[in-house]
Amino acid sequence: MTSKPYGSTLPWSEPTWYTGRPSPYYKESHIKLRDAVRKWCEENITPKTEGWVEQGRVDPAIYLECAKAGLLVPIASGKSIPKEWSHYPIIGGIKPEEWDGFHDFVLWDELVRSGGIASLFVGLTVGAPPLLRFASKQLQDKIFPEILSGEKRICLAVTEPAAGSDVRNLTTTAEKTADGKHYIVNGEKKWITNGMFSDYFMTAVRTGGLGAEGISMLLIPRSEGVRTRPVPVIAGPLSSTTYVIFEDVKVPAEYLIGSEGNGFAQTMVNFNHERLWIVFQALRGCRTAIHDAMQWALKREAFGKTLIEQPVVRYKFGNMGRQIDALQAWTEQIVYELEHLSDKEAARKLGGTTALMKVEAGLVSKYVAEECLKIMGGLGLTKTGQGSRIEAFYRSVPGLVVPGGSEDVMIDLGVREALKISRQAEKAKSKL
Ligand SMILES: Cc1cc2nc3c(=O)[nH]c(=O)nc-3n(C[C@H](O)[C@H](O)[C@H](O)COP(=O)(O)OP(=O)(O)OC[C@H]3O[C@@H](n4cnc5c(N)ncnc54)[C@H](O)[C@@H]3O)c2cc1C
Repeated sequence: MTSKPYGSTLPWSEPTWYTGRPSPYYKESHIKLRDAVRKWCEENITPKTEGWVEQGRVDPAIYLECAKAGLLVPIASGKSIPKEWSHYPIIGGIKPEEWDGFHDFVLWDELVRSGGIASLFVGLTVGAPPLLRFASKQLQDKIFPEILSGEKRICLAVTEPAAGSDVRNLTTTAEKTADGKHYIVNGEKKWITNGMFSDYFMTAVRTGGLGAEGISMLLIPRSEGVRTRPVPVIAGPLSSTTYVIFEDVKVPAEYLIGSEGNGFAQTMVNFNHERLWIVFQALRGCRTAIHDAMQWALKREAFGKTLIEQPVVRYKFGNMGRQIDALQAWTEQIVYELEHLSDKEAARKLGGTTALMKVEAGLVSKYVAEECLKIMGGLGLTKTGQGSRIEAFYRSVPGLVVPGGSEDVMIDLGVREALKISRQAEKAKSKL
């Protein structure tokens, strides 16, 4: 469909479909969602972001407001909202049956645009899907009302000090008690986003022998034996990166997600949405940066003319713009494909390409952040004023490159998956 121009008219500052260009992907409900999220964020978030950055924390009260505004249900769901959740509010009045992967994209695009608030939801967006997809109905019925009302919070705890990319070799143990009623958990997790304020830790643990088959997913409530402390990271404290220690933590056996030994597969499936969501963040980060740099280049004079009148500066914008729009087009293609494949087929066919797209998002972000920073001159290194969003984006780029699968590991995975699909296709052809 074609919609009226919306938002900034500066080149590449908004997705192409916001500018009045036609798109096959977006319908009325996407426009409705976009308008509602932008309005809500501009009224409730943008005026507060600077204060949060100064304090080094997002005001926890905002989380309950987010629940009331209808943000938590779509964030916990991803690309489709369960029918049973229709009694919860959904922002923009979108119905669960209308919700698709493009709504997910629009939602995140607008949340990231508003600044600090997005970091508040990282735990929910990566921690809730295993509960939704793989947990027993009883566990879902107990936990979801707490976390969808904003009363309690969840995060995902996979990485350990000695096992990050190498998930297969994690060492946190969960041993069943003799009566089979509980697991006793011991181990440490590192760099857990939102961990400091989480009530539940969706945790990858070892319940069996060595390797992937020995890994399970266990929901660990904050309880006796769970200790957390902040880990300061480059992008700042708003996302509350955390070191978690489990010492003889007693967890009811029914908090196991699915069955024992499936934790590795569940973690890998979860990574696909996490990687896509990192691409969503990268795209809006690039657009915000190019917007601020363009605004500056149009008015800043040096050597008797504005920066934009310098061919070298225009060359930078052209190179940024083509990369951002190419990444947007690739992302939309993958979101479309996800809509048209079963979960199983999507995991098989799109895992590798999503990993490569995440790599591309990191590379485009690195390029855009650095070019925008240079265009701003000294302002690009300054935490306040007209360059502040570019300075913050520049610092946030490593957070798009390493978490959720580090660049080198993702490239290697992308190639291995592409070859696997090729071999499977050859086999299928030979059977015809
Ligand atoms: C800010 C932040 C937030 C995070 N949030 C979470 C979270 O919420 N939950 C969670 O569970 N984890 C989280 N993580 C952890 C994150 O997913 C890991 O840091 C990441 O997977 C890399 O693991 P690692 O740090 O152990 O690096 P390693 O696995 O030690 O790898 C280090 C480097 O070695 C190279 N390398 C390693 N293996 C290979 C290979 N096979 N092929 C090629 N090169 C390779 C790569 O260059 C890689 O970057 C977060 C991390 C950070 C920094």
